[in-house]
Amino acid sequence: MLNIYKIKIPTPYPVGPVNSYLIKNRPYTLVDPGPDYPEAKEALLEGLAALGVAPADLARVVLTHSHSDHCGLARWLSDKAGVPVYVHRLERRKLMPGYEYYGERLLFLRQSGLPGEVLEEIFEDTDPLEMPVLNGWVEEVQGGEVLGFEGGALSILHMPGHAGGHICLYDFQQGNFFSGDFLLQEITPNPVMEADPADASRRLPVLTQYLDSLRLLKTLDLRLIWPGHGQNIENTMESIARAIRHHERRLEAVSKILEENCWNAYQVMRYFYPKIKGFQVFLGISEVFAHLDYLVAGGQVIREDRQGISYYRKAGSCRTGDKTETSGCHR
Ligand SMILES: [Zn+2]
Ligand SMILES: [Zn+2]
Repeated sequence: MLNIYKIKIPTPYPVGPVNSYLIKNRPYTLVDPGPDYPEAKEALLEGLAALGVAPADLARVVLTHSHSDHCGLARWLSDKAGVPVYVHRLERRKLMPGYEYYGERLLFLRQSGLPGEVLEEIFEDTDPLEMPVLNGWVEEVQGGEVLGFEGGALSILHMPGHAGGHICLYDFQQGNFFSGDFLLQEITPNPVMEADPADASRRLPVLTQYLDSLRLLKTLDLRLIWPGHGQNIENTMESIARAIRHHERRLEAVSKILEENCWNAYQVMRYFYPKIKGFQVFLGISEVFAHLDYLVAGGQVIREDRQGISYYRKAGSCRTGDKTETSGCHR
C-alpha cells in the first residue's frame, strides 16, 4: 500500500493553494513541489518536516505538467536533494531556457481576431513569478512507464488536454489516482491552447485529447482521485461525467451561436465572457478555440480564414444574403 500525504502549498495565483504529494514509501517521491517563491518553499519544507522527511530523503520529483504553480520549485528541490525530476518530454520543452510562451501562441491570438489593445492588455498582465526553468537532472517520460515503490507502484499515464504533456499517476493496486490539473473537484480545467510540436502553425486538438483521456479514465478502477488543487474526489465517475457534460453543453452552445452568427474566436469569447481582462482573455480564447477546433474537426462548423483571422459558422448556415454575410464569412 502506498502512504500518501498531501501538503498544501500557497501560490500567488487566483486558483489558490496547490497540492503537493509525498509518497512515503521507498524510494520517497514528491509530486508537484509548487511555485518558486518564498512562502511556497517554506510551506513545502515545513510540510515535509512535519512528516519526518528532509529534502535529502527524497529520491525523485515528479511533475504532472509545466505550469508554474506546480513545478516552479522542481529545479531547486532536485538540486538540493540531488535527485532527478520526471517530466513528460512535451512539458520539458516548455521548461527549457528561452521558451517563449506567447511567442508560440501569437499566431493563434491573431487568428482569434482580438483587437490590438486587448493583446497589449494580455502582455501587460504579467505573471507574478518568473517562468520556471528546468535545466538540471531530468528524466523525460512519455507515459506507460511504471514507478516502483516498496509496497506499491504508480503507472505514468499521458493524459493531455489541459497541457500537451500532462501526466497522471495511477496506483493500479489500490485505485489512487493523482490527477494534477487534469481533473479537479471545484474547477473545470482550461484546455490551454498549444502549438503542435510537429507543426507550429497548427493547434493541438486539445479538447479531443481531453475528452478521449476522460473516457480512458472512466475505464480505470478508481477509488480516490488526489487532484492538483482542492479536495480529493471520492465520487470519481460522477466527477468524470460532469467534466464531459460541461464540454458537451458548451459545444452545443457554441454551435448554436454560430447558426446565426459568423464570428471569430474573440467574438465568441466575448459572448460568453463580456467583462474579463488580461490573462483571463487569453484563457477565454483558449477555451473557445478548443471548442471551435473540435466542432470544425467534426464537420459541424466551417472555418474560413480571411486576412489572418479565422471566422466560424455552422455547417449549412450563413448562406449568401443572410444577415451574417457582412460579418466576415464571405469575401
Ligand atoms: Zn495547470
Ligand atoms: Zn494548477
